[in-house]
Amino acid sequence: MSGLALQNITKQFGTFTAVKNVSLTVPHGTFVCLLGPSGCGKTTLMRMIAGLDLPTEGAIKLDDADITRVPTHKRDLGMVFQSLALFPHLTVGENIAYSLRIRGVGKEDQKKRVDELLSMIHLSGYADRPVAKLSGGQRQRVAIARALAISPKLFLLDEPLSALDAKLREAMQVELRQLQQRLGITTIVVTHDQREAMTMADTVVVMNSGEIRQAAAPVEIYRRPADTFVADFIGMTNLFDFTADSAGRTNALGSSIEGLQVPGGLSKGVLSVRPEDVHLTAPGHGAIAGRVTFVRDLGGTIETFVEAGGKQIVAVSMPHARPDVTVGQDVGIKLSPDACVVLKS
Ligand code: ATP
Repeated sequence: MSGLALQNITKQFGTFTAVKNVSLTVPHGTFVCLLGPSGCGKTTLMRMIAGLDLPTEGAIKLDDADITRVPTHKRDLGMVFQSLALFPHLTVGENIAYSLRIRGVGKEDQKKRVDELLSMIHLSGYADRPVAKLSGGQRQRVAIARALAISPKLFLLDEPLSALDAKLREAMQVELRQLQQRLGITTIVVTHDQREAMTMADTVVVMNSGEIRQAAAPVEIYRRPADTFVADFIGMTNLFDFTADSAGRTNALGSSIEGLQVPGGLSKGVLSVRPEDVHLTAPGHGAIAGRVTFVRDLGGTIETFVEAGGKQIVAVSMPHARPDVTVGQDVGIKLSPDACVVLKS
């Protein structure tokens, strides 16, 4: 298979296991984000892909060749890390040409490639400028161009945008994704920012405690989370217990959930329902009974907090569909069975 394959990778530091039996395939030309809370093992996994650390167990293959023990400089990688490590005393052009020069590429070809890359990152004409005289976003682009100069097989970025302010970061996410699509380069990014992952990735790999909890397309991760950790980590959700009887009837939040059939044999578990799928109605008529405890108007969306069956449930609506409710009011909650994700507790 062309692309990257991680096969049963484990990394131990002494008795501590930072990465546990991780297997993942990254097909050629795809964009993967490793996403998870601090300490979940993202950087450790990335360092092994980069050849900066050796797995305790398992194998890493690039285009079917085993690269587990191949040194970093022979892996055909382009890397950008949080600290961009641009050479401050060199110009933009010299920074980008650096790896070409040490590979013995001729002066004319270096210049051609630098011009090509500068145009790609929208900095044509900046070749002679000292990197110290660039903005944060421009430096970021130069670091990306420098990593891509050798046309690597694999492009690795560890928290590449985290030092930028929020607006610039969002713009750079779109730019990076467009560049990756244009070049068709296999790319892996480490981030703890779920919005960033959802914006850029073909596949989001959600990690926790050294393990992959789910690897899937962003919308799949959001709509069909594999477990309560993923459901809770990605976006906002309502998580609450349910019980099911032998006929498959489901009870949650002190009421039965009409029409929801849980997989056979499951007598209890957890339901995950996104706030935009919670509909508030008049009480009665088979709706779950609740009482409004708080309303938060964020301008673009309105969040209504409702206490039901001892849990706090959040409903999100757009301003044009603002629920006509006030704090203290009794309401009904309607959950469409399609919107309920059944998870094990
Ligand atoms: P962050 O988002 O905070 O960078 P991360 O998901 O990238 O976190 P890692 O840096 O991969 O996490 O670390 C995973 C775990 O392994 C952490 O508990 C960390 O303390 C531990 N760890 C990482 N490197 C070493 C090391 N060289 N020696 C011992 N423990 C380490």
